[in-house]
Amino acid sequence: MSDATTQTLPSATGPLDDAAVAQLKHDFPILNRTVDGQRLVYLDTGATSQNPTQVLDAEREYYERRNSAVHRGAHSLAVEATDAFEDARETIAGFVGAQTEEIVWTSNATEALNLLSYSLSNASAGLGGAEAARFALGPGDEIVTTEMEHHANLIPWQQLAARTGATLRYVPLGEDGLLDYEAAEDVIGPATRIVAFTHVSNVLGSITDVDRLVALARRHDALTVLDACQSVPHLPVNFARLGVDFAAFSGHKMLGPTGIGALYGRRELLRDLPPFLTGGSMITRVTMEEAEFMEPPMKFEAGTQRVSQAVAWAAAVRYLEAIGMDHVAAWEASLGHRLAEGVAAIEGVRLLGPEAGRERAGLVSLSVDGVHPHDVGQLLDTRGIAVRVGHHCAQPLHRALGITASTRASAYIYNTTDDVDRFLEHLAGVRGFFGL
Ligand code: PLP
Repeated sequence: MSDATTQTLPSATGPLDDAAVAQLKHDFPILNRTVDGQRLVYLDTGATSQNPTQVLDAEREYYERRNSAVHRGAHSLAVEATDAFEDARETIAGFVGAQTEEIVWTSNATEALNLLSYSLSNASAGLGGAEAARFALGPGDEIVTTEMEHHANLIPWQQLAARTGATLRYVPLGEDGLLDYEAAEDVIGPATRIVAFTHVSNVLGSITDVDRLVALARRHDALTVLDACQSVPHLPVNFARLGVDFAAFSGHKMLGPTGIGALYGRRELLRDLPPFLTGGSMITRVTMEEAEFMEPPMKFEAGTQRVSQAVAWAAAVRYLEAIGMDHVAAWEASLGHRLAEGVAAIEGVRLLGPEAGRERAGLVSLSVDGVHPHDVGQLLDTRGIAVRVGHHCAQPLHRALGITASTRASAYIYNTTDDVDRFLEHLAGVRGFFGL
């Protein structure tokens, strides 16, 4: 099942409730397996999601029927593979409110953010000619990020600052587990050139007021970079409407395969930005001395491309679209509330981030008094429950919360309220198990 005309619909579409989600679970072969003889309750989508058969079939069908390198060769397979690859780009672009040529394929969101960071430092080193000069950074310029970032949206900016002499500043976490927007008014100022921030925190589940930060950045003519890794899979997101300049997201967090992500960039910005990786498939003319580059997005896509992953990711997007992102968001908000309220009600367990009842995505992180998160995770695993433990690639955020690690449960369209309740029931028994 490879394209919009042949792909089978999800087992349930429209508004989600427990009955509909129980139907959807049938689409995910892995959810049929057991762990230690118990039904698997998968609550680690924040790290990576599971794949429905529609996605697995699309990737398999591609390899069985159309596998070829794209954008070269005149044979039929190459033409069909190229069509599938570019159709997939159109599908992903439509899903996030972008023009097709505003979507650059990358390996994942991490690579997308690094691509941007390196392209900006190439501009700072004088590459890209006069058009790229507006991206040049140097001493006196400031890059702003936040204290709640995943390392993928922090370290590339630290490195860009180190390469260019710019200064890195950050918006701190507020008391309420949200960003301190008052502080942002001070941190973002005339020297700010870039503001990079997450849409949904992968630890706290809090949702950033994008409009507010974009307005602040625009007031100072700074570029905005949105880490949309935890928002695009879960909420209706339209980058053009949000008004961000760049955004990064990954296929594997939204029912797609690993190995593919995307950088969104406004068309005129991608046009003027110098490339990061160079080599085959991204040039128009090469001499022994120099090269001319293709128009974006190809300018940023050097080397043989990840075609099967693009095709399968598009199948994942069609799957989500068939359910409807409003329905996905509504179901996850209800699971998020149930998780937060349930966690907050357990004695000796601290809910991190916004308090229960406040807006959040379908994930919670928590710490259990006197029990290390790894022990929490291992105990839950013996009950068939898969959660994430550790610092979730957000060490500064954990430091700000006064802890080194936490336990995270993150839900998706294939989780029922029963999954959440099983997690809560066993979480409530953790301290007792350890004699506390
Ligand atoms: N940003 C956020 C908020 C994330 O949750 C993640 C993954 O956990 C990333 C960035 C990095 O995504 P990837 O590992 O797919 O590059």
